[in-house]
Amino acid sequence: MHELSVVASLVETIEELVRENKAKAVTGIWIKVGPLSGVVPELLESAFDMYRKGTVVEKARLSIEKPPLRALCRACRRETERADYSPACPVCGSTDLEITGGTDLLLERVELETDEPA
Ligand SMILES: [Zn+2]
Repeated sequence: MHELSVVASLVETIEELVRENKAKAVTGIWIKVGPLSGVVPELLESAFDMYRKGTVVEKARLSIEKPPLRALCRACRRETERADYSPACPVCGSTDLEITGGTDLLLERVELETDEPA
């Protein structure tokens, strides 16, 4: 399962943040998963649940944000947004599209619990 290795490297990054900030725990994680990122949000969520036990993210709340797919049509120069990939421009029907957004897989924010007062 591809998502499990994605989770493994995410947790690795977060563990580093925890060490750098001398945090006690991770309370929240925000991830952005675009429709063309190659990762299925639902699978990412279940992979995370499988993986979290015994790691720094065990008690963290996971929030997955799904940005829309953005495509610029080279025929009518209109940029449109949609939830899923479709091969044609919704305005003019051209298939000459340039993908301008929705391919990201980003660790957006991590909320840490530290000893210092916020
Ligand atoms: Zn168009």
